[in-house]
Amino acid sequence: MTPLGERLKRLIASAGPISVAEYMAACLFDPDHGYYTTREPFGASGDFVTAPEISQMFGELLAVRIYAGWVASGKAVPVTLAEVGPGRGTLMIDMLRTLDRLDPAFIALARIALVEASPRLTEIQRQRLAKGGRARPRWFTELSQVPETALLLVANELFDAVPTRQFVKTAAGWRERMVAIDDSGDLAFAAGATGIDSALLPDGAHSAPEGSLLEISPAREAMMQSICERIARHGGLALLIDYGYTVPPFGDTLQALRRHASEDVLASPGEADLTTHVDFSALGRVAEAAGLTASIHTQGEFLLSAGLLERAGTLGAGKDGATQERLRGEVERLAGPDAMGDLFKVLVVHRPG
Ligand code: SAH
Repeated sequence: MTPLGERLKRLIASAGPISVAEYMAACLFDPDHGYYTTREPFGASGDFVTAPEISQMFGELLAVRIYAGWVASGKAVPVTLAEVGPGRGTLMIDMLRTLDRLDPAFIALARIALVEASPRLTEIQRQRLAKGGRARPRWFTELSQVPETALLLVANELFDAVPTRQFVKTAAGWRERMVAIDDSGDLAFAAGATGIDSALLPDGAHSAPEGSLLEISPAREAMMQSICERIARHGGLALLIDYGYTVPPFGDTLQALRRHASEDVLASPGEADLTTHVDFSALGRVAEAAGLTASIHTQGEFLLSAGLLERAGTLGAGKDGATQERLRGEVERLAGPDAMGDLFKVLVVHRPG
């Protein structure tokens, strides 16, 4: 067992089982042993590869949409371009380069904010963003610290890493799914002892068969709400990209990923990435409750309509066969229905009109 696993076992032995959300939070962000606080998740030698790490075209096309959103807002000033959960900083680097070409005046006047919970990743972002470019970004650990202005916000693969509660249908009704210790002293899932507030449960929950599972992420919805409240007050646009669904399944999407392969969720706390799929319908409802317009697209649809093929054509024009082949591969990975194109969704939110 990992050092964090041993600590969690001692904690559970003395204070009782913890919720799946508490388990996720410890695995991902424990200051001493958490996955994002201590490990290098990204790239071929890491555990997973994200869209901005696959291709510069991802950030370029997002930048064009973000810029169009700013123009549609009447070029609101002051304006903040923010990214939450920037990872290695690649998406922001690609966006800033593109925005500087589109409209140097925008880069001169926009405030650039990176919101990152991991001190280790913040340091990597600082180093990479310091190289070149005229923009002077600032770092924050929470969106609430970013001064309020019109907001242009992107977040890629942020929400899947935000802790999620799970509920399981037992013979006695719905119970919170907990992480406990079994008879052999190992971490194991167990149903919580007390019932849950039925107001939390979605339609269909009462008739779902025993063993069904459902996932609710109050932390994710709270983050979404703080983004939406800012846009409702000051204008702007948010593009939120992640893997997930629009019709919640009664099933378990909690997964652990290490070296591009999935593994048992309880096997190595702190050493594997832990995520759940994102319920985009729930996030869309948060946006609408804040008075915003929300639309959900597949990543494939979104990137193709933003000009992915044209951009690949431009980048490949006059280049050798290997470069053109690489670009074709990137298009396929980002937008192909069997790659990221269908599983990943883009939630676009802005003020009506
Ligand atoms: N957007 C990057 C990284 C995705 S991984 C990419 O596409 O490559 C998730 C990122 O979100 C990491 O940088 C992680 O540290 C950060 N993160 C997770 N929860 C966060 C939170 N509550 N606030 C800020 N950053 C968070």
